[in-house]
Amino acid sequence: MAELLEGLVLSHLGQGIAVETDGKIYLCQTRRRLDTVAVGDKVLWMQSAPDQGRIEEVLPRRSLLARPSRNDKVRPVAANIDTVFVVFAIEPCCDFLLIDQYLAVCENHNINAALVFNKIDLGQSDTIEQELPNYQKLGYPLYRVSTRIPGHEGLEELKQALKDQVSIFAGQSGVGKSSLTNTLIPDKELKTNTISATTKHGRHTTTAATLYHMDQGGDLIDSPGVAIFGLAGLNEQQLAYGYREFQPLIDNCQFNDCRHVYDKGCAVRAAAEHGEISMKRYQRFLKLREKMPPA
Ligand code: GDP
Ligand code: ZN
Repeated sequence: MAELLEGLVLSHLGQGIAVETDGKIYLCQTRRRLDTVAVGDKVLWMQSAPDQGRIEEVLPRRSLLARPSRNDKVRPVAANIDTVFVVFAIEPCCDFLLIDQYLAVCENHNINAALVFNKIDLGQSDTIEQELPNYQKLGYPLYRVSTRIPGHEGLEELKQALKDQVSIFAGQSGVGKSSLTNTLIPDKELKTNTISATTKHGRHTTTAATLYHMDQGGDLIDSPGVAIFGLAGLNEQQLAYGYREFQPLIDNCQFNDCRHVYDKGCAVRAAAEHGEISMKRYQRFLKLREKMPPA
């Protein structure tokens, strides 16, 4: 009997899953539903032909990013992500409500988060500059980059940060996620073609999430179309926990079912009113809370 090999899921193909072991790519089938295996998953698989095999087991994940799909189900977007880099820019206009959502999801899913301010060649924005210190105070790293300035030092800093971990870019359409990905993986097309060619049978669709190894170190999961994962099924409590600065306050609320809105003795609201935490972030929490179904 063939032995079990450990592999890394690179992408979903038309007719199977691209799994990498020792630098070689194999087309694998699975007995599970195909969409329960996620890009970034570590799997145990068994070889069935020179370039093919079958996934027997998905190894435990250290994180899983999912997005809501039909019938209240969640679909895995990517597994084992260490850091989500939330990309924003002056143009299209920076949406802090969306940024807060991403950060809240990461906080709840045991994933680090960092901010990437792209297109800094376009100039300054007072609105953005006023907000950024709030995030830096909370410990979120900030990278100021531009894909239009070759050898930009912010980009070098970002490359260093991407090393030795699995990352993904998130952010609204047009902020420059693909441009950044192409800058960081200049031979992306070649790498994509290698995945398709080695597996022959599987045609790689451009919308499929794919894991790329970067030459400078680190893995980047490129997921056109799924980069916007919204609140990913968080409930009210999780949303509050997702605001890092609320965490030490929540226990001080008078009632343990405090919703942190107009509740009597709410420590979170009091901290926002006294300027101990950002009132803007608190107001965005209230807005997001209104959008979600009750717990
Ligand atoms: P995505 O939708 O987030 O993947 O964004 P794209 O990478 O497709 O970029 C959207 C637009 O922004 C394109 O027209 C890019 O050329 C432009 N863009 C990307 N990076 C920069 C940058 O650093 N500076 C400027 N001025 N434009 C950029
Ligand atoms: Zn409260």
